[in-house]
Amino acid sequence: MASSDFSSSSVVENINSIFKSATQQKRNSLSESESKKVLKLLGLSVPDEVVVSSQQEATSAAERIGYPVVMKLVSHEGVHKSDLGGVIVGLRKPEDVAQAYATIVNNASRSAQQIQLEKVSIQSQCAGTEVIVGAKRDECFGPLVMFGMGGVLAELLRDVAIAICPLSQVDVQRTIRGIKGFRVLDGFRGSPKSDLASIDFCIRAVEFLVQNFDLVQEVEINPLIVQSDGKGAVAVDARVVLKEEKNSGASSPQAQESSSVLSGEAIRTLLEPSSVAVVGASKDPHKIGGILLSRILSHRFQGKVFVVNPSSDSISELKSFTSIGDIPEPVDVAFIALSPESAVRAMQECSDKGVKSALVYAGGFAESGQQGKELQHKLVANARRGKIRFFGPNLIGVVKPSTRLYGYFSTLAEDYDLEPGSIGFITQSGALGTALVSNALDSGIKISAWLSTGNEADLEWTDAVDYFVDDNDTKVIAAYVESIRNGSKLKEAAIRARKYGKPLIVFKSGSTSEGRVAARSHTSAMAVDDAVFNAFARQYGVIRAEELNDTFEIAKAVSMQPLPRGSRVAVISGSGAANVILADELAKRGLEVPILSSALQKEILDLLPLASPVNPVDLSANIMNFPDLLGKTVEKIVSSSEIDAAMVVIPGRSPRLGQIYAEGVLNSQRFGKTIIVVWLTSASNVIPPIKFLQDQGVPVYFGIETGARVLFALIQYNGQAR
Ligand code: ADP
Ligand code: MG
Repeated sequence: MASSDFSSSSVVENINSIFKSATQQKRNSLSESESKKVLKLLGLSVPDEVVVSSQQEATSAAERIGYPVVMKLVSHEGVHKSDLGGVIVGLRKPEDVAQAYATIVNNASRSAQQIQLEKVSIQSQCAGTEVIVGAKRDECFGPLVMFGMGGVLAELLRDVAIAICPLSQVDVQRTIRGIKGFRVLDGFRGSPKSDLASIDFCIRAVEFLVQNFDLVQEVEINPLIVQSDGKGAVAVDARVVLKEEKNSGASSPQAQESSSVLSGEAIRTLLEPSSVAVVGASKDPHKIGGILLSRILSHRFQGKVFVVNPSSDSISELKSFTSIGDIPEPVDVAFIALSPESAVRAMQECSDKGVKSALVYAGGFAESGQQGKELQHKLVANARRGKIRFFGPNLIGVVKPSTRLYGYFSTLAEDYDLEPGSIGFITQSGALGTALVSNALDSGIKISAWLSTGNEADLEWTDAVDYFVDDNDTKVIAAYVESIRNGSKLKEAAIRARKYGKPLIVFKSGSTSEGRVAARSHTSAMAVDDAVFNAFARQYGVIRAEELNDTFEIAKAVSMQPLPRGSRVAVISGSGAANVILADELAKRGLEVPILSSALQKEILDLLPLASPVNPVDLSANIMNFPDLLGKTVEKIVSSSEIDAAMVVIPGRSPRLGQIYAEGVLNSQRFGKTIIVVWLTSASNVIPPIKFLQDQGVPVYFGIETGARVLFALIQYNGQAR
């Protein structure tokens, strides 16, 4: 059956009537046989099956079906039947069937679950490789499918791939090939190749169910028994879970508040204002209102600055207005530095005044309990009234060096101007965000803007991604996030980032949500937030940073270097020990460190007779006597057609040698290959050559492993790893 046949009206009607009979009986889980009926309607094979209620019926059903048979207890509940001693396979004669019937009924009667005690299902027994095919509706990303090595061991093996719907043909293929067990399916060590086309078809069928029937919450086929190539596959166990009544329809108030349209344009207005007002400006340099005003003034913001504070006549030589409404000129952006209750009132005044956007700094809103949630709700309502878009509350602020808008109160760049650069930074957290951006600056990065997003009552980090996609100053987007409110907005933002060639790097915290809830199925147990986010990142071309600081370390490399055209890496090093570690790190991630051709090896030996030229290339201690030979060797290798990227490891603490090495590496830039340097020491005397290299566009890392992760991220982004 071709996939388009799924949607024939009689199929859809028949499936709906199966769902209806379950909901009428107030069940949200279909029985195994109902679930299989649904699959059969979609064209999947299921075993011949009869449900019996006595030993006699059992033996005659087994005769009809044909031996060998399998017997199972019948339950509407989401139980794992084998856990209850409710599955017996390999039954080959009537006496065995009669005995199995008695055993299953007896085992079932000892269980606390709701089981139809007398009923037992008899099925024909299938042989082949067991896989699991599942689908579910994820709270954040919507419908997704899962595929993996299956059977009762599915959760033990945890060898699964997840893909978010809708699936392209490439997505289906990648999902099937994305598990370790694929080698088994593909005919491992002479075993027959499995029928991959049937797996493809089955994935399409469960995708169709979860995509086209709003009532479907989860589908799981475990196992699908896959036969050898051309012979098909049989769904021997299946479960369809329907949405609970209370979950369908109404969305949470939080979700209702969030706009479903990307709003990058609103952020442009916010970051490029002609006039700003600090509402709650203070003479006290320790208060947020005081810090903000001094930042704005000390960084010489180009537009007009107004201050609002009813208890002062003037602050920092600026006339202080009693309320924002008293300002006689238009105000583009309000920096609201007031306590929560006052901030809510000020937002109303901003709406009346026609302010375009705002930043709300105070904490004490939704993050702090029910009362705070209500205040946040009012804040949003007051902003909506005047169509004001804002970041916050509970916000550290934003900075855009090119417009000299320093609207934050953290200690970052307190007393100097930031040099505008090309990396757009987004952080949900304020304190950790400050640390991250500060580390990034220390590592030699220049930013186009930093947007912290706080509670995201209105504008969200996905809107910030959208803004950076359209921002001409930004080449690379880096984000540190804790939560994703709206998966479909993120999908759209990621698609736009990819389309406009701006790599999006995301570090997402909270990756150990596994086992949070007792899951009803293997799919729920395995398709948890972190795994789903990984799947999303892979499918939508988002680079997921493995470690927090990788967020900017990767951004640095992508902003400086061309992306690798393939996954062949040369490791060139003045330390044999570092070579071993690097080669391991790269191999672990599926990257190739190919053996260089004998001609190229000979050229290397002509330069450095003591070198080990295979790849990883060990330059030997020779380079200390002839430091220019490092650059010459790198040049030979990088200019060859045998590799796509080079990782150069520079040893030593000598600034003189360091400078010669650095110049040598730079010489190979002209070949358009990706070059990354790992410097084995960060001692202060080698800082000048390192700065020199980075200023010329070659990223330098101090950690061997960091360098490997960064290179892997670049190669994976270009879709060429593995
Ligand atoms: P549950 O998942 O509820 O424990 P299953 O119906 O999946 O029960 O059965 C458990 C195991 O029994 C399957 O993983 C499979 O190995 C085997 N099995 C079940 N039905 C069949 C069948 N019709 N043919 C072959 N093996 C089967
Ligand atoms: Mg099962």
